[in-house]
Amino acid sequence: MSTSAARAILQLLPLNAPYAQERLSKHFDVIELWKEADPKSVIAERKDNIEVVVTSAMTPTPADLIDALPQLKAICSQGVGYDAIDVKHAQGKKILVSNTPEVLNDCVADLAFGLLLATARKLGHAERYVRDHQWGTDAAFPLGAKVSHKRLGIVGLGRIGMAIAQRAAGFDMDIRYHNRSERIGISYGYEASLVDLASWADFLIIATVGGDSTRGLINAEVLKALGPNGIIVNISRGSVIDETAMVNALASGELGGAGLDVYEAEPKVPDALKSMDNVVIVPHIGSATNETRKAMIDLVLDNVDAYATTGKVITPVPAL
Ligand code: NAP
Repeated sequence: MSTSAARAILQLLPLNAPYAQERLSKHFDVIELWKEADPKSVIAERKDNIEVVVTSAMTPTPADLIDALPQLKAICSQGVGYDAIDVKHAQGKKILVSNTPEVLNDCVADLAFGLLLATARKLGHAERYVRDHQWGTDAAFPLGAKVSHKRLGIVGLGRIGMAIAQRAAGFDMDIRYHNRSERIGISYGYEASLVDLASWADFLIIATVGGDSTRGLINAEVLKALGPNGIIVNISRGSVIDETAMVNALASGELGGAGLDVYEAEPKVPDALKSMDNVVIVPHIGSATNETRKAMIDLVLDNVDAYATTGKVITPVPAL
């Protein structure tokens, strides 16, 4: 790493592609912050050179970091969600923020559907049953719930929500959705009320954004409306569901089951969930495939290149 007055990138996390560092260093000195023993002093030393921050949807990028970098012009993030980045603060200072939309839609929607099937058909429980040598030793394995032809409510019919709806159509499901506003030109039914959507649905998949605007959106009332045979799947952010209310509803039988990729305080998962056979829990792996992670890294690198050569990014987060 040079300490000259060259333009610099502050990279907060490694990008797991063999060519990533070479691409980043094409236009910039690259400060690999995760390798530094004293990150605060490195930032203080290099602050006047740093034009770009490379971060991710899961890497906090708060206002005080943004304020510590007087020459910062662009924040390029890996991931589509931006609730870990103080985007409003950055945009207020005319700093560009980019994310990686679209390229992860398929894999996140596939996982949402996998969680729905796994929860309804008790795949986790069934696998444990076989591995634990219970098959053939006691009463038959409990019956699951049919998925095809059922009613699916989607909370957040955006890019990923639409990919989930496409998969659900292949299962001949009846689909309705809730957003803050009805989408024009979409044939799925719109429910202005979340409770009404939950009362109607057999299954609810949460695919909305995280952050303050959706914190606790799925509360005890919504879970109660989904009911004792209802299943909730969450691939959005843990903050969107009132986790305590969900654990209580699952424990009391007020809610039938849950398939979860995301949690309120990751990597902490409430212990109560781990002992429930009607719950499938995975460690935030929505976009975690070789193909999709490569596409996300490539889009981060393309955004950095675009900023370096044109002063603009390709996939800017819209103004908040
Ligand atoms: P998107 O295209 O922006 O879609 C978000 C949808 O949520 C929109 O339809 C939006 O509609 C709706 N929405 C926003 N605020 C809402 C509110 N307060 N109440 C109800 N609906 C609301 O985003 P996307 O690309 O599909 O990504 C969605 C989210 O998925 C990301 O933000 C991220 O948190 C999560 N995600 C998770 C993983 C994972 O690994 N599990 C991976 C990628 C993304 P309106 O604006 O009309 O309300």
